[in-house]
This record gives sequence, structure tokens and C-alpha cells, in this order.
Amino acid sequence: MGSEFRVAIIGGGLAGASLANALIRVPRVDVHVFESAPTFSERGAAVGLSKTSQLALDQILPSGPDLLSKAGAVPMNSSRVILGSGPEAGTVVYDIAADGSAVNVHRASLLRELLAPLPKEGLHPNKKLTTINPKESEVEITFQDGTVYQFDAVIGADGIFSTVREHVLQGVATDEQLHPSPAGFWDCRNVVPFEKAKGTLGEKYFEVDRQHSWVGEGAFIMHDVLENRTMVQCVISGIEKDPSASRDRKRPLTREILRDSLSSWLGGPIADGMINLVCDQPDLSRYSQWDHKSTPTYTRGRVCLVGDAAHATTPWQGSGAGLAIEDAMILGTLFANISSPDEISAAFEAYDVVRRPRGQRLIDSSRETGKILCGESGLRADELRGLLAPRWDFIFGLDMESHKREALDELRNIQKK
Ligand SMILES: Cc1cc2nc3c(=O)[nH]c(=O)nc-3n(C[C@H](O)[C@H](O)[C@H](O)COP(=O)(O)OP(=O)(O)OC[C@H]3O[C@@H](n4cnc5c(N)ncnc54)[C@H](O)[C@@H]3O)c2cc1C
Repeated sequence: MGSEFRVAIIGGGLAGASLANALIRVPRVDVHVFESAPTFSERGAAVGLSKTSQLALDQILPSGPDLLSKAGAVPMNSSRVILGSGPEAGTVVYDIAADGSAVNVHRASLLRELLAPLPKEGLHPNKKLTTINPKESEVEITFQDGTVYQFDAVIGADGIFSTVREHVLQGVATDEQLHPSPAGFWDCRNVVPFEKAKGTLGEKYFEVDRQHSWVGEGAFIMHDVLENRTMVQCVISGIEKDPSASRDRKRPLTREILRDSLSSWLGGPIADGMINLVCDQPDLSRYSQWDHKSTPTYTRGRVCLVGDAAHATTPWQGSGAGLAIEDAMILGTLFANISSPDEISAAFEAYDVVRRPRGQRLIDSSRETGKILCGESGLRADELRGLLAPRWDFIFGLDMESHKREALDELRNIQKK
């Protein structure tokens, strides 16, 4: 028997909760999740989980499929890309994930089900991390309420504006690498009753449960069905015309701004109805999309980063949460293969070697995909099909077993040095 490891996870969102599930299954690991909010909660509507994300979830939780069904996940019959403006408006470009293997799940329900298996004594709400102080053989963490704890390892799952990231990257990253910055897009959204969306947008888009992604000049529209076909998520995104304005993450939005952004779409198959649906809310705002441009490392000694703290990406390839689940799978595998806290920094280094290139690839690919989906590469269906179709291959093509093997090989190499 090796010694017991005490691991602190900072942040109880989808990344922190996934990781806690991976680590509680490793014998001898004592896991504590610290969340700054008064309750563990998720804002926002839905998250799409590809087959790859679901396979990664199965690796960390034997009851993965059961968990998704308890969370009310709805199978998505593909994500259909259609032209929304230009001479070919209304033409179907192609169907992403046409095997129907992806699911759409309400964020709060997914988090609830991920938290359910965790021991209650390991969940600590109202704990905002302020400082990290590495000691000889442990890490001291201090919270805003003045409490101080010692752990063998600390893992930052504290989201895009991560405090743990500042500790990990201090002195090794430029300012641009340290902080997220605008990615060049904005988006706004509303969740409306199913019947209302069907009546406004047209019955034919609701015969099959699929995501519809509309590509057009300077903008993008998406709608998908949630919550057992009772609600529809409606999203309008666009290219930031004024980069200085995108420094404000949230800005007021008006119908006039939307009509201006979608001016060449008006009178076509989708924009007028979608503007009506999105504008039907009291707090109409648009949000600037931010991402991490590059990250020189995910780890420093016995501290490391997962999820958006490590690799915040734009939502264009719908895979940020999936990547966090993969992070959890790899860290779970590495912890299961070390026997003393002295090996934690080697495990984190191995994690960094295998996960960072994938995280960066997704961030860069997602930003480029956003430009294509906002019509920057033209609006010809046949050309778009060729451009878009291969962009998901590296996301969907991950072989879980060889990815885990690669991480363990790295661990052994690092340990030999
Ligand atoms: C519009 C949009 C659509 C998306 N769609 C998809 C999709 O379809 N599929 C997909 O896979 N991904 C999608 N993503 C990405 C996905 O939502 C994120 O990657 C994922 O939710 C990140 O989870 P996280 O736990 O890393 O971060 P967060 O959800 O931000 O959680 C971080 C947690 O840490 C807490 N915290 C912060 N600071 C501290 C502190 N100092 N001390 C303690 N706690 C702290 C916060 O309160 C929060 O609870 C989308 C993202 C966006 C913006």
C-alpha cells in the first residue's frame, strides 16, 4: 500500500466535478472540491456531448450512460449545417455527426448527476481560493474566508478567469498567455418554448431532433431542442466589427443591431424569425467570446490545470466540456499509476505533455471554424462542405486507450530521468 494522497480541486463546474469522479475511484486518493459560489451550480442552457466525450465519461464513471439518461440527455440526430444568406440560402451543406451519437444535455442536470456520486464531506461551497503557497512536500491553499489547508496536490478547475492559472504561469507566461482575450466573435441567446419556435421558424426544422447551424455573411444562427422537446435554444453569433468593444464581455443588444448584423440575411429562410425569438426576453445582451491564445504549461510542481482554466475555447466546435472530461480521464489514469505523493509532479508533467497539444489544437481550430461558419470563406455549399467536414475528425477520432497509454509512457519516461 502506498501513502494516501490528499487532492484539492478548485472549482466545482463540469471540469471539477468530472475530475472528482475520476479521482474518487483511485484507491488512496482523498478528494476535496472547493467552489467559490454558495452552491454548486451551472448557468446556461445546454451542452452537447459528442460520442468521444461520452466515451471519455464512460472511462471515468462506469455508470456514464446511466448518468446521462438521469440528466435527461436528448440524442441529437446530427448537427445540420445550412446556408442562411446568399444565393444558395436554404441549401443543406452537410450533417456533422450524422450517426446520431451525440447528445444534448441541460448543464445544471449534468452537473447535478456528476456531483451525486461524490462524498458530501468532500464538497465545500462558499470557498473562494485566493492564494497558493507551495511548501517542501505539500501545497498550502488559502481562501477568502481566511481558512488555510494543506494538500499533496492542487488542481485548478476554476474556469476561464482561473486564479490557479496565475500561480501556474507566473514568471513563465507573457500577459497575453496568462489571460484570456477576445476571440473576435459575439453571441446572444434565448431559450423559448418548443411550440413557439416551431410556429416561428417552421415545422420542417422540428420534425427530427437535430441541431441546425445556419451559415451566412458575417454571422451564424443555431437552434436545437432541449428538455424532452419542450424548449428550443436559439443562438445568434457574429464577427466582432469593433474589436475595442469586445473588451466588455457583456454588452446591451437591440433589435436594430441584430437586423444590421444580419442585413443580408433578412427575407431569407431563418433570420427574421430568429431575431424575433432572440429579442423576446427582458435582458437582451450580447457576449464577447474569449479564449486562451496559447499556454506554455498546464503544470507547476504539484499544481495543475484542467478544463477552461487550462484551455478556454470558443464554442464553435462544441467541445470545451468534452475536453475537460478527457482531462479527467487522463489524470485519473495517471493517479492510478503512482504510489507516492512524490510522484505527483511527474504525473502532472505527463498530463501536460499529452493534453496541452490537444487543448491548443481545439482552441485554434475552433476559432478558425467560427470564421468559416460566419461566412468568411464564402457561401458556396460544395466548398463549405469540403472545408468544414474534416474539421471535427481530430476531435471525434481520439482513441481513449492509446491516449491513456501515451500518458503512462510519458510518466515512465519522466520517472526514468
Ligand atoms: C456558449 C457556449 C457553448 C458551449 N457549448 C459546448 C458544447 O456544446 N459542448 C462542449 O463540450 N462544450 C461547450 N462549451 C464549453 C463548456 O461550456 C466549458 O468548456 C465548460 O463548461 C468549462 O467547465 P469548467 O468547469 O472548466 O469551467 P466553469 O464552468 O467556468 O467552472 C469553474 C468553476 O470554478 C469556480 N471558481 C472560479 N474561481 C474560483 C476560485 N477562486 N475559488 C473557487 N472556485 C472558483 C466557479 O464558480 C465555477 O463554478 C460551450 C461554452 C460556451 C461559452
